[in-house]
Amino acid sequence: MTDASRSGGCLCGGVRFELTEVPQDAGYCHCTRCQRRTGTASSAQARIDGRTFRLLQGEDMVTAWRHPAGGFEKCFCRECGAHLFSRNPDDPTQMSVRMSAFDGDPGVRPSFRTFVAYAADWEPVPADGLERFYERKPRY
Ligand SMILES: [Zn+2]
Ligand SMILES: [Zn+2]
Repeated sequence: MTDASRSGGCLCGGVRFELTEVPQDAGYCHCTRCQRRTGTASSAQARIDGRTFRLLQGEDMVTAWRHPAGGFEKCFCRECGAHLFSRNPDDPTQMSVRMSAFDGDPGVRPSFRTFVAYAADWEPVPADGLERFYERKPRY
């Protein structure tokens, strides 16, 4: 793996991060929050252990937004709007990094699809053989 598979950042370059280990697990989320957040039908993200994550710069530019009903904090760059990662505010070891935030190929490939019960009407869930979950997938 190259360093680019463990480093990443936002669109404007203000926020930079790195992982001490390559991610081991990834999936697509089809929930309505991810649809609104990304402007697309699903969000591709790598699940990581938050202890392997380090912000290198731009900590003051990262805005964390949590839905009033709960769930993971959605963290994005307040300058350019790029979505970067999410985390469980009650358990910082539980994090996901948006696949598109990596500089290079993070190595891992999405192996499941979550919240397919809420998939967008305008984009059918692909028949790609990936494991599907109507709601969330347990993390551990
Ligand atoms: Zn930015
Ligand atoms: Zn989602």
